[in-house]
Amino acid sequence: MNRKNFIKLGSLGLSSLGLSSAGMRSWNNTIQKPIVLSTWDSGMAVNEAAWKILSANGKSIDAVEAGAMQIEDTINCCVGLGGYPDRDGIVTLDACIMDEHANCGAVAGIEQIKHPISVARKVMEKTPHVILVGNGAQQFAIENGFQKEPPVLSPSAEAAYKEWLIKSEYKPVINIENKKQGNGPFAPAFFEDGSPNHDTMGLVAMDMAGNLSGAVTTSGMAFKVHGRVGDSPIIGAGLYVDNEVGAATSSGVGEEVIRICGTHLVVEFMRQGYSPELACKKAVERIVKRDPKKAADIQVGFLAMNKKGVYGAYAIQKGFVFSVKSERENVVHDAKFIL
Ligand code: ASP
Repeated sequence: MNRKNFIKLGSLGLSSLGLSSAGMRSWNNTIQKPIVLSTWDSGMAVNEAAWKILSANGKSIDAVEAGAMQIEDTINCCVGLGGYPDRDGIVTLDACIMDEHANCGAVAGIEQIKHPISVARKVMEKTPHVILVGNGAQQFAIENGFQKEPPVLSPSAEAAYKEWLIKSEYKPVINIENKKQGNGPFAPAFFEDGSPNHDTMGLVAMDMAGNLSGAVTTSGMAFKVHGRVGDSPIIGAGLYVDNEVGAATSSGVGEEVIRICGTHLVVEFMRQGYSPELACKKAVERIVKRDPKKAADIQVGFLAMNKKGVYGAYAIQKGFVFSVKSERENVVHDAKFIL
């Protein structure tokens, strides 16, 4: 290629070729595996936990469960028992898991159980069902050896809830990372560890055998109506895995993701030949096109990888980041965005 053509190609932009600058690094003829991707920078520690299994030739399903458990064990605004409660002051958790055979399991609105991801896995492995909710999910967990934890809020969640109670405004917003949203519960550095707004943890992994799995775990939207379920535990919304094509996960306003069957859509775009990044972009565009005005005030991000270990992400707004771990990389990337 001569210099002129090279410059022309450059001005087209990588994305018009279906390549992201991040995905480009892994875009060659070899399949990049094992590899794990997860939402947000809290994904670095999550990936580390998953990597222990992947690098020892373990299975991707075990890796994604271990990754999700790692963050469920930490105090985080948006995952696990330390997460923000609903508007009644109760922490309810959602999680799902899916393997390379399209086996899947999920729990929604489960209370006082530390590792909803492992309950989701038990639903997948021990029942003919896909989703258990609320008291039934908790009862199933206890029957399967999970301990019922005391219903206490973490100090950070309690402080956020008390602040929210002052106005008690039912306005569940998802933080848009690049926009200051007052001194509310989503104000940066609210947590003692100084971390900004971590959100739902979604991760997808490919093991040495080339098999894909994914997991999602969350406390859902802060101060939601008791009983509300978002996209995170819904297969095809918060997570989808098709071992022939790729896997995708999401974070952000769950209602908008459910409306478009978001991660299923991303995987279907990859099946049509789009790169993971472009597939995510097209799904985000679907949300924005439906209601551009609403989209201006919300955040949704998709993260995906295909069977070659090429990955990509896209969000409505600036600020969605994701973590990648493979033999070549251990990094946090900024996702591209539309608005
Ligand atoms: N997607 C989650 C939900 O709607 C929220 C998040 O990503 O933080 O429950």
